[in-house]
Formats: sequence, C-alpha cells, structure tokens
Amino acid sequence: MTATETLIAAADAHSAHTYHPLPVVVASADGAWMTDVEGRRYLDLLAGYSALNFGHCNRRIIEAAKAQLERVTLTSRAFHHVKFGAFCEQLAELCGMETVLPMNTGSEAVETAVKTARKWGYRVKGVPAERAKIVVAGNNFHGRTTTIISFSTDPEARADFGPYTPGFEIVPYGDLTAMRSALTENTVAVLLEPIQGEAGVLVPPAGYLPAVRELARERNVLFVADEIQSGLGRTGRTFACEHEGVVPDMYVLGKALGGGVVPVSAVVSSAEVLGVFRPGEHGSTFGGNPLACAVALEVIAMLRTGEFQARAAELGAHLHRELTGLTGTGRVTAVRGRGLWAGVDIAPRYGTGREVSEKLMDRGVLVKDTHGATIRIAPPLVIGKEDLDWGLAQLRGVLGV
Ligand SMILES: *Cc1c(COP(=O)(O)O)cnc(C)c1O
Repeated sequence: MTATETLIAAADAHSAHTYHPLPVVVASADGAWMTDVEGRRYLDLLAGYSALNFGHCNRRIIEAAKAQLERVTLTSRAFHHVKFGAFCEQLAELCGMETVLPMNTGSEAVETAVKTARKWGYRVKGVPAERAKIVVAGNNFHGRTTTIISFSTDPEARADFGPYTPGFEIVPYGDLTAMRSALTENTVAVLLEPIQGEAGVLVPPAGYLPAVRELARERNVLFVADEIQSGLGRTGRTFACEHEGVVPDMYVLGKALGGGVVPVSAVVSSAEVLGVFRPGEHGSTFGGNPLACAVALEVIAMLRTGEFQARAAELGAHLHRELTGLTGTGRVTAVRGRGLWAGVDIAPRYGTGREVSEKLMDRGVLVKDTHGATIRIAPPLVIGKEDLDWGLAQLRGVLGV
C-alpha cells in the first residue's frame, strides 16, 4: 500500500464517517499550495471554507502565534491577559461597533448570537417570557449544534437529531414578502448569511438585504449577519453586507478570524445589545484566550490595510469573468458569488460536482462540491494570479474546453 492508502485506511477504520473527504493526504502547506505525503503539490481552491483567507502558514500569523506560544497561551476568563483588551478594541473598531464577545468555533458564536438576541428580546424589547422568535432563511448553514440544526432545512443535517429547539421561523431566502409577514411583536432577531455559502454561494437579489435591514429597524428586531464565511475579505470587502451598504446590529464572525491557526469566533455588536449579559450568564473556557487573541490581532491588522479586500475584489472580478465565460460552452449552467468566492453549477452530462472535484484533484487542484452539481471555488486571498489562471485552466481541461 502507498502511504496515502495506509493513512486513509487508518482514518476510515477509526474515525466517525461524518465527512467524505477527497482521497488526498496533506502533509504540509504554504500560501495557496498544499503538498501530500507522496510529495505531490495541489493548488488549494477551497481555503478551509474561508478559514484560510490569508493562506496556509501565513508568515505574519505564524510569527505572532509562535511569539505568543512562548509567553502565555491560556488564562481562562477568570483573569485578564495582555492581549484581550487590544483584541476586543480592535475587532470592535474593524466592525464599526462597540462590544465583542469572543468564542471559539463559528457554531458557538451563532449560539451566542441566539442567546444574546433572546435575552435582549426579554430584557430590552419586552417580549413575554419564552415567546422569543428568531427568523432565519431556508437553505441556511449556521453550524452543527442541536439548536442550530433545529432551524436547518437540510434533511441530512437534521435527521435523527431531534427533539429540536423551538423558537425559530424559516422563510425562503431572498423573499422579502415572506420576511415581512414572518415578523411579529415577539420576533427578536433576523439571522441571515449575507451570501449563503454552503447552499452554493447564493447571492440574494439586489435590494433584499437593505430592505430586511430597514424592516428590522422598523419592527425593533435585531438584524444579525452571519459573516463567518462571507466576512473578513472574502468578497472584496471586509464584510459582505457592505456591498449593499448594510450595517447589521450584530456580526457573527469566525473562520478567517483564527488565521488558519486556531479557532477564533466572536459576536460583535453595540454596548446596549451585548450589555444584556452579566457575569456568569454566558462564557467559554477557551474564548478570547491569549493565543487566539494574538493570532486574531494579526488578522485584524492585516485587514486594516485593505490590501486583502482589494486583492479579493480585483482577482475576484477576473475569476468571475473567466467562470462566466464557461457558461457559453454549455459545460457550466450557472456561476454565482462575489469576490474570490464562486459557486459553479456543472451541467449534469459533464459530471457531478464530486466527479469534477476528483478529476481536478488528479490534475493538482483541490475544490469541494456541494449539493450534487455545484463546485465551490474560494482560494486563499493571497493566491497569485498565475496560479489562479493555472487552476482555471485545469477546470477547463476537466470540462473539455
Ligand atoms: C462554517 C460556518 C459556521 C460554523 O462554523 P464552525 O466553526 O464550523 O462551527 C456557521 N456559519 C457559517 C456561515 C459558516 O460558514
């Protein structure tokens, strides 16, 4: 057996089969490139679902992590530590907001947003006890906890995990009329992805997000933007909401905030909204730890320059021009997305998303399929233009154009 086969056999035999990975075993990575155990190189066009916006082993982030590793890595929130204040101050400033509540994974941050909105609803809005409702969109992806899958519409994510958490109402994504009629006096929040990633990189109709923003303001409902995948440079702006001139009441952040090194997530909002919490009412042992803060501070500093957003905008325009060109060949039926983020629907007679992903892997390009016919392209924002063009040439090769 090859090293690849041996290692995959061990994983198959001893890991729970919650994923169906491509048969590649990564041993090292740098920038937009990964190297497998056999020494083969692959261009990474997935970037850990946006957790690797700044590339693999980004030198600045690795140096910041190393420096922190030698000093102090965990204090728990029982004590202050030297990086915590700066992290909260600078993340709040990046978001144009006041207050940060740090967690670790994206799911935990979404859970935190749900708890915050409910408490705000009871304490500030005056919703009667146990009546708070949160409106979400169909085909959403907000994580994997029992409460979050309670408001998923994906049967695979939900089946056999009940009983489900009540208090959520699901409306079709992009449907303003449905959103308007879903809001009642007991609605505390609308929770949306400004672009739906897992659903296939779905961009809502122009004007939808601003209209929801306005509706939420009128009805005294919090507009919560889950920017865990869409945020922090991916779309060519710091936040995907900015493309529509929308400022939510709360950002939910994760993935790229951890610089591809450690899980770092956060809810960011006003002092009024996050001020509903008192000591003991919510928390996390690892949330806001020194290592996480050191890494995230480097990420924030990099985002403050605007260079990664500009790069995503410029290379993203190029990516979308090239991909849109493929729709004329009949191989691709639709291309969606913004910036360095695209969902590409493959015409069924040219293979499923999985088959195209496997053929791309054989040519040294790694992507991930979603919902059968779609492949998702989301390279690290540091990818070189020549590398991106090479990756696109491989896609054309697989599709035979
Ligand atoms: C990945 C993701 C999450 C969940 O984050 P985890 O770190 O995997 O828990 C939530 N929302 C969106 C939009 C995501 O892309």
